[in-house]
Amino acid sequence: RERLQKTRERLADRVDRLVLGKKHIDDELLEELEEILITSDLGVSATRFLLEQVSERVRRNELKDPARLQEELRSAVARLLQVPAPPWDPAAARPFVILVVGVNGVGKTTTIGKLAHRLKGDGFQPLLVAGDTFRAAAIEQLVLWGERIGAPVVRQKHGADPSAVAFDALEAATSRDVDVVILDTAGRMHTKVNLMEEIKKVHRVIQKKMPGAPHEILLVLDATTGQNALSQARLFKDTVGVTGLVLTKLDGTAKGGVIVPVCHELQLPVRFIGVGEKVEDLRPFDPGEFARAIV
Ligand code: GDP
Repeated sequence: RERLQKTRERLADRVDRLVLGKKHIDDELLEELEEILITSDLGVSATRFLLEQVSERVRRNELKDPARLQEELRSAVARLLQVPAPPWDPAAARPFVILVVGVNGVGKTTTIGKLAHRLKGDGFQPLLVAGDTFRAAAIEQLVLWGERIGAPVVRQKHGADPSAVAFDALEAATSRDVDVVILDTAGRMHTKVNLMEEIKKVHRVIQKKMPGAPHEILLVLDATTGQNALSQARLFKDTVGVTGLVLTKLDGTAKGGVIVPVCHELQLPVRFIGVGEKVEDLRPFDPGEFARAIV
């Protein structure tokens, strides 16, 4: 919460300053508000959508007092972030299979460790799968997380076929006592096409081996990357199909606002937010709290 405040500063302070001393909400004020929103990572289309909602209330005489503009904007953002989606429910299948995707460095492996820890706390036995066979360090890092939180890790050697690793993992999950399978994937971006093909193949192997799976495809996005997060979200949604988002590094940034255009444009729910590097630093996403933090 305290960390999220950082995100709030710029946008909220600017809206505060905008309404200071104003008596009425007029077109000029709304235009200035539009300018503030567009230049604060919210993007053109989400800004237009939010402004339309606020303006509509003004037109209907339901909103007159500039002092209430901030609050009005905040609820519009909260509604936008509340993307309709099935609830997060790892008990919905056994094993519940989660495919985790995202480009290198966004915090994928860390998120998997934190998520597995959370699941253990909720009474689920997780199995981690080292599907980024492209980088030896990625395998080692996942093994370390497994040791740290006390979860088994399925791995093969560096360079192995990731879909073979996924196949093995699902086989292991059914013979062992596992509730949730969390699969890591590669995130190298210099060979974008190959990467997408590789993830699609992993996806197909999972579907074939276990009809109904994967039950969730989580895309991890780094909040500090601003508009890059939006283009990554588009790419992964269009090619591998994403069902939910994790927004990381919200502890050290003023740019969490990019999640607004991502949710607006792609209509994907945010499942969790990352607020640090420690094992307990993964939180469920609360649209109301997040809206209060950024606006
Ligand atoms: P991957 O390449 O996507 O698997 O990324 P990693 O999990 O290796 O994370 C990259 C870096 O970001 C590491 O130094 C992590 O400790 C750090 N990191 C991950 N999530 C967070 C977060 O929520 N907050 C902060 N401050 N750092 C994070």
